Amino acid sequence: MDINTMILVLRSLGDGEIKPRIKNLGLIYEINDMELTLEKINEYRENELLLPVSRYSYPACSTCNSTALHIIFECPTCKGRMLTKHDMIVHYECSYIAPADEFKSNYADVLYKCPKCGKQLSKVGIDYGRPGFGFRCEKCKFITQYPVIRVECDNGHTSNIYDLNMVIFEGYKVSDTVNNLAGVYEELVTAAKMLKNYGLKADVLCKVTGASGAVHIIPFMLKDEMNLIIDYIPNPNDAMQWFKIIARSIDLANALSIVVTDKPIDAHILTTFNTSRIRVIYNKDGLRLSELIVQEVLKMVEDQV
Ligand SMILES: [Zn+2]
Ligand SMILES: [Zn+2]
Ligand SMILES: [Zn+2]
Repeated sequence: MDINTMILVLRSLGDGEIKPRIKNLGLIYEINDMELTLEKINEYRENELLLPVSRYSYPACSTCNSTALHIIFECPTCKGRMLTKHDMIVHYECSYIAPADEFKSNYADVLYKCPKCGKQLSKVGIDYGRPGFGFRCEKCKFITQYPVIRVECDNGHTSNIYDLNMVIFEGYKVSDTVNNLAGVYEELVTAAKMLKNYGLKADVLCKVTGASGAVHIIPFMLKDEMNLIIDYIPNPNDAMQWFKIIARSIDLANALSIVVTDKPIDAHILTTFNTSRIRVIYNKDGLRLSELIVQEVLKMVEDQV
């Protein structure tokens, strides 16, 4: 914010006060040092990049469900929040309790003197006690070791600690889709670069919205004249993976799918889908995936001409 804007903002404040306020992000997910919001996580989950594996519960504001909470100490007598913390001394004879600093005497031979009754304190445990730390309310001067603990959310709602709600969030692991893609990502990028030399534009890891409104993450897609999708399934005999590819091919009705596999596919799985819309290429010669993709795409482009 530049200084001109700042001056306008300050002027708009009028008689209002600028108060310090504890703000934090509330709940976020973190991968290494990267922070992901709940919205991002939900998006990845919908795209089946993440799978929920566990559940965690957190206290949340009972008014707005915010998880960005901080603790407030209140004076039990006047509800004031301006508390200070001190090492305390109590004078047994007159029961006066106050911060140790207030008992310091001005005389070299006397360490402590009671500011209330004026008597000297000589023996700890006999004349006076050291109960430890306590809190003093700066409004009403009440001293306590147990301030009232309340909780405030980042939207400013205050509540008693046991009135908080509990909200549940899931923990996630990356899915097989991500692991499969991560393993061949470099190869897909290489294939896209090679095809560019032939004037063909390919996208790696792009998002496409289907007829149902669902968003699909496509590993490799050739857009221009034909909508060609390339998937890589190292183990082609897991029926679940085919189910996803078949569902996607119904949702993306004008796209053709090529599925590259490292193993031959079972004949009975082949019968479950329309082979004119989904073609399976078994990489039996162990070609690099990038070479195989370029070879297949160029063959198809030739066939079209
Ligand atoms: Zn709230
Ligand atoms: Zn008070
Ligand atoms: Zn005293």
